[in-house]
Amino acid sequence: MKFLYLPLLILALAGCSQADKAATATTGPDARFDAFKNQFIEALWRQNPGYASGQGYHKYDSLLVIPNAAQRQSDAAFTQKYLAALSTFGLDSLSPNNQIDLRLLRNELRAQRWYADTLRSWQWDPSNYNLGGAVGDLLNGRHYPLDRRLRNISDKISHAAEFYAAARANLSSPTREHTELAIRQNAGGLAVFGSALADSVRKSGLTEQEKKTLTDHIATTRQAVQGYLDFLKNEVLSVGKYRSFRIGKNLFEQKFAYDIQSHFSAAEVYQQALKHKAELLHDMGHRAARLYPKYFPGQKAPADTLALIRSVVNQLTLKHAPRDGFVDAVKRQIPTLVAFVNEHKLLTQDPSKPLVVRETPLYMRGSGAGASVSAPGPYDKGANTYYNVEPLPAEWTPAQAESYLREYNDYTLQILNIHEAIPGHYTQLVYANRSPSLVKSIFGNGAMIEGWAVYTERMMLENGYGNNSDEMWLLWDKWNMRVTLNTIIDHAIQVDNMSEKDAVAMLRLDGFQEEAEARGKWLRATLSQVQLSSYFTGYSEIYALREELKQKQDKEFDLKAFHENFLSYGSAPVKYIRELLLRK
Ligand code: ZN
Ligand code: ZN
Repeated sequence: MKFLYLPLLILALAGCSQADKAATATTGPDARFDAFKNQFIEALWRQNPGYASGQGYHKYDSLLVIPNAAQRQSDAAFTQKYLAALSTFGLDSLSPNNQIDLRLLRNELRAQRWYADTLRSWQWDPSNYNLGGAVGDLLNGRHYPLDRRLRNISDKISHAAEFYAAARANLSSPTREHTELAIRQNAGGLAVFGSALADSVRKSGLTEQEKKTLTDHIATTRQAVQGYLDFLKNEVLSVGKYRSFRIGKNLFEQKFAYDIQSHFSAAEVYQQALKHKAELLHDMGHRAARLYPKYFPGQKAPADTLALIRSVVNQLTLKHAPRDGFVDAVKRQIPTLVAFVNEHKLLTQDPSKPLVVRETPLYMRGSGAGASVSAPGPYDKGANTYYNVEPLPAEWTPAQAESYLREYNDYTLQILNIHEAIPGHYTQLVYANRSPSLVKSIFGNGAMIEGWAVYTERMMLENGYGNNSDEMWLLWDKWNMRVTLNTIIDHAIQVDNMSEKDAVAMLRLDGFQEEAEARGKWLRATLSQVQLSSYFTGYSEIYALREELKQKQDKEFDLKAFHENFLSYGSAPVKYIRELLLRK
């Protein structure tokens, strides 16, 4: 996932390292399908070397795909071949885990075709083309020793001129927003081919001839990137012939179906989000009215409900960790969360896998992610999982620090820890790793992963975490409003032409957001489509599924069993888990 809704949170998509352990048979449909999956993933990496490097598979690091028509034909043939191969497996003949894998693969292949043939962002999104990002990752990666990394880089960038020539040929009236993004990113990418790389070359063990070749390749690459930047500025931006960044109703619905794999349509989820927004505001109004006399004794409450809520929220966020105690505050909360989950029998935790909280390593800092779970990728067998918490940057002014600490006040910080750690992302990861599937760790469903983390925030509070206090619930409402509004503006902007002015006003007024956060959200909503909707969609699907099962099972319903069964299928789309649970 490129974008994550909380500015602070990054869930490094994780997974397991082994092939599907669940299927031990050596013959029969599951065995045949397991063999197919391994062969398919190998072929997928050969077809998409850049994608492979990003997933930690480094066999094809030296290859660069030229994004031209011949490549698109080759991609189309690849998808066709594997869709045909998939159709030879009968869904019902497979284990539940393999059924989900089969559907994930089918969706992935169909989505690839749809992206190339229908959405065609290769024509209108110039930020698709940026060698700096890929080369930066190879240079900083720890997988191979420096010399080998440099040789791979040398081979890869030897085709930089062809790469950018193809990029220019592909573009036809791109959007202004993605053009500006491409200029920012490629200008940043140019820095990758600067002095740090030159230093690495100098101190490497490459032969003089290799050094010379690589230095020449770097020079031509710089020229190619600069040429692309000039092209974008002089032949796209200054000409001013753009298409709209809004993809409209049909494409949005289709993209939603491929990316989220929900059993709801985008329009249905949009309606749910509007309804939920009203419920949250209603709840906030009641709680703020009850809290007002406690925090403003003897004062007359504002008549306007939104003003009333705002004043109480502002008062509550004054309670926060000291500037130099942020990491400690997080560390102290983790054992409390573990104990609460155990005492209230919410799910079984694995005591052999305690969460390790650490200060974010220096090389990972400064990305704007204050807290993140970093988990080993599918090919990093045996690496640890950490909860990284970043101390406040020393260079921040007192005002910057205060604003940050207020955003992650004593109440919200607990919700954040639930989301990121226990029983949110970290716990889900531990469960997912028990039925390891390479397919799920590569194509795992983002809406399910984020939806689970958001669901657990509410579930913990419903079970009495925070003593059911109005304070805790009010700040949960505000926090939950963020994902709800993300869904609303995503749809309203992309489908219904909502303007920047109206979007920012809604985020400020109904979301109680600061100007900077609201403007940042607008920018993100112009550059991505559907992704902003994934958190709320996953959350509401999981919540609705729980309520559905409660109804159906009546007195038999057991919350702990529901959570454990739900998580046992790994990071699968909620709609598939739902089918399997309802069949039980
Ligand atoms: Zn009421
Ligand atoms: Zn998350």
